[in-house]
Amino acid sequence: MQFCYCAIVKALDKGVEAASNMPIMTHQTDIITLPHGRPGTARRLAIHHFGTGQGPKAYIQAGLHAGELPGMVVAWHLLDHLIRLDGEGRIKGQVVLVPMANPIGLDQVLLGGHVGRFDLASGVNFNRAFADLGDRVADCLHPGDLGCDADTNRRVIQRALASAAASLQPRTEVDALRKLLLTHAIDADHVLDLHCDSEAVMHLYTTPACWPLGVADLAARLDAKAVFLADQSGGEPFDEVCSTPWDRLRARHGGPDMPIPVGCSAVTVELRGEADVADGLAAADAAALVDHLCWRGIIDAPVPVMPDRADLATPLAGVDRVRAPVGGVALYHVDLGTRVRAGDHVATILDPASGDRHACHATADGLVWSRTQSRYAGPNDILLCIAGREVLVTSGPLLTA
Ligand SMILES: [Zn+2]
Repeated sequence: MQFCYCAIVKALDKGVEAASNMPIMTHQTDIITLPHGRPGTARRLAIHHFGTGQGPKAYIQAGLHAGELPGMVVAWHLLDHLIRLDGEGRIKGQVVLVPMANPIGLDQVLLGGHVGRFDLASGVNFNRAFADLGDRVADCLHPGDLGCDADTNRRVIQRALASAAASLQPRTEVDALRKLLLTHAIDADHVLDLHCDSEAVMHLYTTPACWPLGVADLAARLDAKAVFLADQSGGEPFDEVCSTPWDRLRARHGGPDMPIPVGCSAVTVELRGEADVADGLAAADAAALVDHLCWRGIIDAPVPVMPDRADLATPLAGVDRVRAPVGGVALYHVDLGTRVRAGDHVATILDPASGDRHACHATADGLVWSRTQSRYAGPNDILLCIAGREVLVTSGPLLTA
């Protein structure tokens, strides 16, 4: 048998050409075991990475409150999209996705009921007490570290924040979880923390600095019905420890000669209520998140321009939380999504021991965006929330427990 050398070389060249046109698959999965578990136990979570380490970075997690299931379903739909888009070579930036961010909370069952919001060992809300690295980084920056170019400053600060997060020394499993999540998110340009409320319409939480820089696009794509803004809502929730260090660094070091950008746009996405767990809803929400990542330039695909939703945002301090005046059975008179006026009779508490009825009224005009699922209310429990435009709360934390 005779071989034609030229034919072999041509075939090899074609092979190289074909290979060079093939997208490089970038998807990597890290399976991480949390340290500081109790003897004989181990808890793991998976962290998915896409991209070559260049370009804008998005960090997305679900299930930090482990009883909030809609986000975890959305995340698995999103993972399918990202794997397909990666195969097509369309991921131009970086995406880090944690579909199940809290194996500790997922494992907490007490007297037959799942407890996913609070760490049973410490009593602390899983979405509180994250390390706020702003002051630590501000103290570490030296004159000359920052200059007149905002993008260069962004990269310097991202590296400093990442280094500060890496140096945290957790002593418990739950703090090790907080550190793990924070180290993957703190140098991201965009952070999406997927949650849900008790019963609610789609809504978002973010800061006034982040809102005009693209969060309105996310709100429009998710068809959010409310957006709540606060500079600092209290308690160090995950989104704010990613975004607000930039605001404090800007206040301390920034100026016309030393511009410090809004380096991390962080949003808590509330995917309706706890019972809104459905494949159809999750598929639509995941598609909306993909479109937003395209709009951000992280994924290379055309997407339609969304209508401006600038009017959607209201102050978190303007939320009217209608509370039960006494304990009893909660009877709601307004559905989610209803617009009410101050003074409207929105709920009644029936005292089942005496038969007495207690009327509950709205304080603000606005949209009823959440209700408490349990119809048994204790004295002063929150029954429902209204998105008011006027500030009602002037001190103390703005989030509920
Ligand atoms: Zn939550």
